[in-house]
Amino acid sequence: MIVCKFGGSSVADAEQIRKVKSIVDANTDRQVVVVSAPGRRNKDDEKVTDMLYACNALVQQGLSCRELFKKVSSRYTDILTALEMDKKPFIPVLEEVRQMIDAGHGAEYAASRGEYLSARLIATYFGWTFLDGDPVIVINHDGTVNEATWENLRQAIKPGQKYIVPGFYGSDTEGKVKTFSRGGSDITGAILSRAVMASLYENWTDVSGVFSVDPRLVSDAKVIPTMSYREVRELAGVGAGVFHEEAIAPIVSAGIPINVKNTNAPLDRGTMIVPSREIDGHPLVGISAKTGFSRIRLRKLMLFKKSGIRHALLTMLHIFGIRPTFSLFGIDSIVWFFDSSQASISVINAMCSRLKTEFELDSIEIDQGHAIVGVIGAGVMEDTSLIPACTAAFSKANIKLNFLNYGSSDTSILFGVAAEDAQSAVIHLYKALF
Ligand code: ASP
Repeated sequence: MIVCKFGGSSVADAEQIRKVKSIVDANTDRQVVVVSAPGRRNKDDEKVTDMLYACNALVQQGLSCRELFKKVSSRYTDILTALEMDKKPFIPVLEEVRQMIDAGHGAEYAASRGEYLSARLIATYFGWTFLDGDPVIVINHDGTVNEATWENLRQAIKPGQKYIVPGFYGSDTEGKVKTFSRGGSDITGAILSRAVMASLYENWTDVSGVFSVDPRLVSDAKVIPTMSYREVRELAGVGAGVFHEEAIAPIVSAGIPINVKNTNAPLDRGTMIVPSREIDGHPLVGISAKTGFSRIRLRKLMLFKKSGIRHALLTMLHIFGIRPTFSLFGIDSIVWFFDSSQASISVINAMCSRLKTEFELDSIEIDQGHAIVGVIGAGVMEDTSLIPACTAAFSKANIKLNFLNYGSSDTSILFGVAAEDAQSAVIHLYKALF
């Protein structure tokens, strides 16, 4: 059995949904289809999910979302009209969703309705069974999949039936609607793949696979033919789009292959993501960069003489909601990089003054605007020419390095640079290494 997931652009309008149907109809093994909410139809368009978050934001300010929700409704009614489907049964469903958002059911409920409505519409169009993620997919507080999910899905899925499943959400352990992080329909696809022990998980999007570098930066960017689970996680972890970095987790133990394919060019082979791959003379798969990091640097003479200080410092960061992504330790200093969206500047400042006094630090500095650039591939530790080639590329581009992370993973080399240098770093590294 093949599980397919179609992303927002693949279900953005009636024409795209027709393409989805012809793809699914072309292979009878495609029996479970996970869908996103309608995405952008062109570059100036809005995603339904973004509109739903905006609806909830109005409600939080004490206003009604009635007017804004009309835009959401028309996305679905336009599709129904163009697919020559009966709109009548759908109108009360839309109205109920609007009322629930207006009644204050919150951001996750509101956002989840994009996928819910999309899946209900597509299930009717296909004549397949609609299988709601709420309450069968149980999502833990930290966004990981709760074990109860597997038994729930085992009971819900009947052999010989074909299912349309909304991506992106399930319920929390108390039974309230809960979403994954943005782009999380990929995770739902992975969950369904594992639940039915699919022979293949097809992830349909609007590009012909995972690119070795962002094609907006490098015009001759190539699609990666085959990559390993670990490579896709590392590449997604440094900002490469296409496949959600958390979507590997549910299928690792089952070893199900993933094929990233293009709804608009279904004959293209796309990218195969497999448990592991032979290096075969291709040590690298790609290069990407992620901006939006902040840096804390602290210094104290004889810092590590005090046992347990590292742990105590991290506990303080945790209390202020900060989880560092990268750490560097010097003899009398520590540097942490963390995602800037985790805390506001005022929270960070409050934390820094508390750290300074409580741990009697000599200094503590914080700055924003950092980026992490990753050179990713199963062979990064094998090829001795890589590090010199990378540093030569940085020197040629006159880019200052803030840190180098080599050896913490056998699949990546990570470089810290200023956010404004990130694109140039990617371009120069790509020229030097590919
Ligand atoms: N619709 C959600 C988003 O825009 C989830 C997804 O598309 O995978 O993030």
